[in-house]
Amino acid sequence: MIRIDDLEDKVAAYAPNADIDLLRRAYVFSAMEHKGQVRQSGEPYLIHPIEVAGILVDLRLDVVTITAGLLHDVVEDTLTSIERVREYFGETVAHLVEGVTKLSTIPFSSQEEKQSENFRKMLLAMVDDIRVILIKLADRLHNMRTLEFLPEEKRKRIALETMDIYAPIANRLGMGKIRNELEDLAFRHLDPAAYFQLEHLVEQRRKGADEFAKEMVERISKILEENGIAATIQSRIKRNYSIYLKMNKQKISIEQVYDFVALRILTDGKEDCWKAVGYVHQIGRPVPGRFKDFISIPKPNLYQSLHTSIVTEKGLTCEIQIRTHEMHRIAEQGIAAHWKYKEGKVAPGPEDQHVQWLRQLLEYHQELKDPKEFLSILKVDLYPDEVYAFTPKGQVISLPRGATPIDFAYAIHTELGSHCTGARVNGQLMPLRYKLKSGDIVEIIRAQEMNVGRDWLSVVKTSRARNKIRHIVHLQERTKSIEVGRKLWEKECRKYKQNVKKILVEEEISKKLPDYGLIKMEDFYAALGYGKLAAKNIMAQLLPEEVLAEGPVQKESRIANAVKKALGLAERAIKVKGADDVLVYLAKCCGPIKGEKIVGYITRGKGVAVHSEHCPNVTNLLYEAERKIEVAWDTSSEEPHLVPVDLTVDDKPGILAKVTTAVADTQTNIKGAKVRIDPDGKGHIRLDLEVTDLKHLEKVLNKVRQIEGVQSAGRTWEGKKEAAR
Ligand code: MN
Repeated sequence: MIRIDDLEDKVAAYAPNADIDLLRRAYVFSAMEHKGQVRQSGEPYLIHPIEVAGILVDLRLDVVTITAGLLHDVVEDTLTSIERVREYFGETVAHLVEGVTKLSTIPFSSQEEKQSENFRKMLLAMVDDIRVILIKLADRLHNMRTLEFLPEEKRKRIALETMDIYAPIANRLGMGKIRNELEDLAFRHLDPAAYFQLEHLVEQRRKGADEFAKEMVERISKILEENGIAATIQSRIKRNYSIYLKMNKQKISIEQVYDFVALRILTDGKEDCWKAVGYVHQIGRPVPGRFKDFISIPKPNLYQSLHTSIVTEKGLTCEIQIRTHEMHRIAEQGIAAHWKYKEGKVAPGPEDQHVQWLRQLLEYHQELKDPKEFLSILKVDLYPDEVYAFTPKGQVISLPRGATPIDFAYAIHTELGSHCTGARVNGQLMPLRYKLKSGDIVEIIRAQEMNVGRDWLSVVKTSRARNKIRHIVHLQERTKSIEVGRKLWEKECRKYKQNVKKILVEEEISKKLPDYGLIKMEDFYAALGYGKLAAKNIMAQLLPEEVLAEGPVQKESRIANAVKKALGLAERAIKVKGADDVLVYLAKCCGPIKGEKIVGYITRGKGVAVHSEHCPNVTNLLYEAERKIEVAWDTSSEEPHLVPVDLTVDDKPGILAKVTTAVADTQTNIKGAKVRIDPDGKGHIRLDLEVTDLKHLEKVLNKVRQIEGVQSAGRTWEGKKEAAR
C-alpha cells in the first residue's frame, strides 16, 4: 500500500516548487470524508483515492491533478458538495473533480464498434480539461486491478466498458503502459476461460522463452558494448491479450507466435538506434517484412521506435524494439510524457494549433508537429463542431453542434422525425429548437399524426433532417395544390356546364396531358394549384370554337348579375368569408377588411391568400401574374376581421394606456399589441384589432389619432408609403 508521504516525496523530487501542502490537505480531507467507508475488498475506502493519486504521480503530473485524484470520489460517494471542494481547494481542483464525477454518470451500454467510437468521442467532448481524462484513466486502472471483489455482472460490465472505451482512449493518448494493463485486466474478466487457458499455454512456453531471452540479452549487450553503444536492454514475454489477439486473428498456435519473446533496446540518442539495428541483424537473420521504422514515420499517437524480428541459427524468433529513453517514456506515458510542468498556465482557444494537434492525435490522423511544443494544453474543447447525445436506452447519437431534437429524432428514424412533436431533455420538456449539448439524454415525444412544418427547415442542422423535411413539405404542398387546382378547374368547368360535360371526364384531359408535359391527372391539378397552368387557357384549348364563341353559360338571370355587379362582386370570384374555408385565408400582412378591394393569390400549397388591394406585398406577389385570381367578399358573413394597425407616438409615460382606452371605447377588441422605442425617441405600436368592416376601422383610427402624442395611425402600409414620399 502506498503512503501519502511516499507520494509527497516523489512529487517533491520531480516538481521541487510544487505546493505539497495542497496534497497533504487533500489527503486529510479525503480521509475524513471517506471515513468508515470500505471497499468491496474489505479495505478502507481511502486506499482507492491514494492509489489513484499514486498512478498520477507515476505519470509525473502536476499537483493540482494529483490533488483532484485524491478527491475524485468525495462528491460522488460522500455528503460533500462540489462547493466545499471549491472553497477548500480552489476552482481548478473543483473543476477537475466535477469533470470526473460527470463522466461517471454517463450510462454506457455496449453496442457495435461505431457506437463505441461515438461514445469515446462523447466522453472526450464532455471534457474541457484533458486532466479529467487522465484522472479517470487512473481511477479506472485501479478499479480494474481490484475488480475481482465485485459481483460477476458488475465485473463484466466494467470490464467491457474498459475494453471498448477506456483502453482505446489510453491508446489514443499514447499511454501504452496503462492501455496494456487495462486490456489484459479486461480480457481476464471478460473471458476468464480463454484467459486462463492462455496463461497455461504461456506458462508451458515460459521456461524455454526465459532462457532464450536471457541468451539474446547477453549476445546483444556484448555486440553493442564492443561497438561502443550505450544501451539498456529489457526482455519480456508478449502480454496475454496481444498473444490472444494474434492467435485468433492469424489462426495460429502459441508456438507460431514469432514475437512471443520481445526485447527492447533503449539508447541515449537516435543515431544509436540505427547503429543498433545493424548489429542486431548480425546476430540473427531479419524476418522479411518485419522491419518497421516508426522513428522516421511515428504512429499517429506519437509512438516512435524501430521494430525488427530476427531468426537465430537455432531457428528461434524474437521481436526487437529499439528506441531512445525519451521515445520510450512517450511510448509508455503518451500525453503525460509531454506534460510541460508549469503552474499558472493559459488556456488556449479551440483553434489553437496545439488543440488541433491534440484533437488529431485523438482521432488517429494527424500531421506531426513538434511534440515538444505541445503540452501546456489543459483547457480544451476537443470537438467544437460536434455534440453527442443519448437516447433513453443509452445509444449515442453524434450530431453537428447546434443540432436540435428534430435532428436527433431524424437521426434515429425518419418516422420518428416526422412525427416528433416535443422533446424531453434530461427529463425536462424542451422546445424543438433547443440546441443539444454533449451528454444530453433526449427522449422524443411522438405524435400520432405527422407534424412536419416548413419552419423546421430553419431550425435543423443535419442535411439528413433537412432533406426529409423538404420532401414531406413538398408532398404536403402538392396535396394542397392538387386540392386547390381541382377546385379551380371545377369552377372553370361550371361556367360551361351545359356544353362541356364531357371534358369533365378525366379521360378527355388525360389524353391531353402529354402536351403539357404531365403524366397523371394529379399532376394536372397540381399544376393548376401551383399556378403553372391557367384554367382559363386550358379550357380555351379544349373547347370547340363554337362553344367558346358563345362564352360562359350564365346560370343566374341578367337581373341577378346586374345586382351582383352593382354590389361589386366579380362574377368569377371565389367567395371569401372569414377564412373558414381551408383553401382561402386572409393574409396576415395586411388583414383585409370586408368592404375593401381584395386580391387573391394562389400560394404554393397553402391555398388562396387574400390580400387588401393596397397591401404592398400584392405588388411583389403579382410578379407571377398567372397566380392571381379573383376573389370577392361573401356578403352574408358577419365574422370580425383581425387587422394589424401601426401607430407612431411620442415616447411619453401613459401613452399606451391612453391608446388602448380609446380603442376600448369604440367597443373594439385588441388581440395583440407590440411596443418598440426607436433610438430617436419615437415609439411604435402595433395593434391587432378585431373589426367588422372598414367603417368600424376608420372609426377606431380617428379616435386614436385625436390622442395627444399620437403622430400617426393607420394600416400597416400607410406609414411606409408616407416614409417613401
Ligand atoms: Mn474512483
